[in-house]
Order: sequence, then structure tokens, then C-alpha cells
Amino acid sequence: MSDQMSEFSTNATGYQDGGDLAVLLAEWLPGQRWFAQKGDVPAAVTIEARTAIAVLDGRSVEQVLFTVPSPAGAQRYQLWVGWSEHYPEQFAHVVIGEVGGRFAYDALHDAQVSALVLSNIADDVSVGDIEFIPEAGAVIDTSGAGLVIGAEQSNTSIVYGHSSILKVFRRLEPGLNPDAEVHRALQAAGSAHIAEALGVVEGPVAGERTTLGLLTGFFANSAEGWAMATASVRDLMAEGDLRADEVGGDFASESRRLGRAVAEVHADLATAFGTDDLDDHAVADLINTMVAGAEAVAAHVPSVATHLPEIRSAFHRADSSATGLRVQRIHGDLQLGQTLRTLTGWAIIDFEGEPSKSLGYRRAMHSPLRDIAGMLRSFDYAANHSGGAADSQHAYRAQEWAARNRAAFCDGYAAVAGHDPRHMGSLLAAFELDKAVYEVAYEHGHRPSWEPIPLQAVVRLINTGGK
Ligand code: ATP
Ligand code: MG
Repeated sequence: MSDQMSEFSTNATGYQDGGDLAVLLAEWLPGQRWFAQKGDVPAAVTIEARTAIAVLDGRSVEQVLFTVPSPAGAQRYQLWVGWSEHYPEQFAHVVIGEVGGRFAYDALHDAQVSALVLSNIADDVSVGDIEFIPEAGAVIDTSGAGLVIGAEQSNTSIVYGHSSILKVFRRLEPGLNPDAEVHRALQAAGSAHIAEALGVVEGPVAGERTTLGLLTGFFANSAEGWAMATASVRDLMAEGDLRADEVGGDFASESRRLGRAVAEVHADLATAFGTDDLDDHAVADLINTMVAGAEAVAAHVPSVATHLPEIRSAFHRADSSATGLRVQRIHGDLQLGQTLRTLTGWAIIDFEGEPSKSLGYRRAMHSPLRDIAGMLRSFDYAANHSGGAADSQHAYRAQEWAARNRAAFCDGYAAVAGHDPRHMGSLLAAFELDKAVYEVAYEHGHRPSWEPIPLQAVVRLINTGGK
């Protein structure tokens, strides 16, 4: 390792008082996609650490850690800030503001900065406390220019040519990020269903070694599972009288393959991280947590309140039928948007787990049924999202599409796992119901016209136990 930055002192980058940057960030943050409290101007931003990274053509670059208060406790974020003496025209769309005659901008959009990060990983460089680490044996192509991908999501991802993608985690909790941890473990297990782990960026956060970024192989010419599934539904709706199995865009064989892929990933996760068995007491606790979650939702969502007694009974049915439960590391936030159809098969991406949960929860062992339930809910959403439920004929056909693809997914899963998730009956239904209740709450708050989609599933699950 080399320490290429030893010649830069903090003053060399000409920082102004951290307080000025903090004031600027408080105004700028609410407009950022990855900022969890969108729309709210935070009461105060506290700058926690600043690491000078480089000076490039007169622009200095630093990595900044800051915290923002929130009702759930302080949230910590990472930002790469570029400083320019002149207004940076080429980065006008990502300018943060002016401090003491210098302009700050979001430096991940600066191709020279993203190129430096990539070459630092390839070269195994440390800058201050920040370590850029290539995966052993990784071949990293540094020839492609970095481009931030269009829709910034919870994080910021930079694609380099057609060869790799760097995900820079925006919100940080001290410790290893499960996305990096799981990619590395699955790679060691020889999984065919993940992007190749190429390297990580790590640094201390609150005294703990923490993943700041993850570099993986990029699947060129891949299609998102969500896009493929919804295209198939559109195809079906366009064909007046045909059934889901008769139209050209039938998705069931892909769903079956996807089921196989998820089962293989689960098997590799079990091998890599081990398994545990929950006793009946722990299963009862799990079910009680689901009941409590539904009760909390019912307190502010009338449509869930109406069904609360039957929701409680459905959960308790699952509890009484359960005899222990196998748990292991899982994906944690599995749905069609986390799958890519590559040229050779299905890949699963984004192993960060459920974004709203703590790092401890996301790295803990859970039932694989939670992932399966997530995927089954996703088929339901794909079927109904285009307004298929608007008239009864469309609603019927959307339901038919969902049932066909959910079944195909479970068939594929069962063929690999050796056990059919549907045989877990009311337990699988409980995981689905738990998810659907949460979805109703989300839609109620964000997209009221979508509320009927998960609500319909809640009604189905309480009436049939998921059959
Ligand atoms: P979200 O908040 O939507 O979950 P995220 O910030 O967690 O996003 P990812 O889900 O890991 O980021 O990736 C975002 C998008 O980038 C994916 O939906 C996919 O389109 C694309 N992508 C991610 N990894 C790859 C890859 N290895 N190859 C090709 N495209 C990828
Ligand atoms: Mg994602």
C-alpha cells in the first residue's frame, strides 16, 4: 500500500470552517434523492470527519462524514465534496453552494474523481484513514470513464464503461455493509448468480471499520426483472382474449428460472454463514412482532384496522402450525427490482437488506421464507401496477398472471431446494401478510391510489391462508 496523500495537509485543500459547510448542507440535503428525510430541512448538520483525497486540476476533493438529527436518532451520511475556485460550470447540476469564495459540488459526478477512486482500488491505495482495497485476484479495468447512473437511488452508483459498477453508500452505520460482505461470501462459494466482487472502499466510522463503497462487475446488456415482468403483463393486457400462458411475452419460464436462482443463492448463503433453528418460543416471538406491526399500522390506516381481527388470527394460525423454523442469512429486501436477467441467467443484486432496519437486524439470520414472500409480493405488484385492477376483466387477468408466475417461481425454488415453500402454508402466508400490511401503510401515506393492490392481498391472505 502507498499513502499518496501524505503530502496534503488539511489546509492544503483550503477548507473553510466546517460550520459553513454544515450550514450549506442543511439547505442542500432535502433535495437529494438518497437523503432519508426528503423535504425536511434538518435542524442541524454536524460535520464528523473530513479526509482530503486529492487535488485534481486545481479542484480539491475531500470525503466528508456528517450526521443529521432525526426522530429515530442521528443519521450518518457520507459525501464526496469537490471544491473549485471558480463556479464549476460542468458540474452546475450538482453544485452544493458557495463557502468563503469557493464552490462546493458533489464530487462523485466528477469523472476525474470517479476515475481516481477506481484506480485507487486497482492500485490498493490508502489515503489518510480511507483504504481502497481490490479483491484478491480481481482484474479491474480502469479504461472506462465513470458515469453516475441516471436515477440516483438510496445510494450513488457509478458505472465504468461496460465493466464495473461502484456503489457508494450514502447512509452509513459503523460496520461491514452486508452488500459487500455477502457479495464476497457468495463469490467465495462460487455463486453463479451475483456480480463479481472486485473491491471495496473502507474507512473508520465512529471508530469501527466501515464499508464506504463496493465495486462489482457490471452486467452489460442485462434487463431488470421488474421491467421484464411488467412488459409481460402489458403484453397480456394487449392481447384481448388470450390467457397468460398463450401470449408471446409469457414470463413463467423466467419465473421458474428465477426461483431456481434464489434457491441456489439461499443454499450458498447457508453454506457460507451457517444456519440456526428457532425453537417454538422464538417463532412465537417472531409472530408476535408481526402482530404488533399490524396493530401499529391499524392505528393510523383505517383499511387495516377494519381487518385487524382476521389479520391477528391469520398470524396466530401460522404460529400454531409452526414447529421450529430454520434461519440463515438472506437477501432481506428481495423483489423483482433486485434481479437482473443477464445473458446467461438470473443475477441477484443489492444485498443491503431492508433499508429501514438497523445494521444488526440486516446482518442477522432470518427465515428464507421472508425473501420468498418478498418475491411473491413483487409478482403481485407487477401484475397490478399498470392499473390492471381498474376493471374486473383486467383484474381477473392480472390475478391469473400473478398466480401463474408465483407458482412457477415456487416450482423452480422447490426443484433446487428439495422442499416446496408452499408446503410451509400458513407460515409463508404470515410472511406475505406481514409484508402486505406494511405495503398498505406505505401506499396509504405515499400513493393512496395504489393502496388497493396490497389491500387485496391482505384480504386474500386472511381468507385463504395464502392458498
Ligand atoms: P435501490 O435504492 O433502488 O435499491 P441502490 O442504491 O441500493 O438502489 P442497487 O439496487 O444496488 O442500488 O442498484 C441500482 C441499479 O443499478 C439497479 O436497479 C440496476 O439497474 C443497476 N445495477 C446494479 N448492479 C448492477 C450490475 N452489477 N450490473 C448491471 N446493472 C446493475
Ligand atoms: Mg436496489
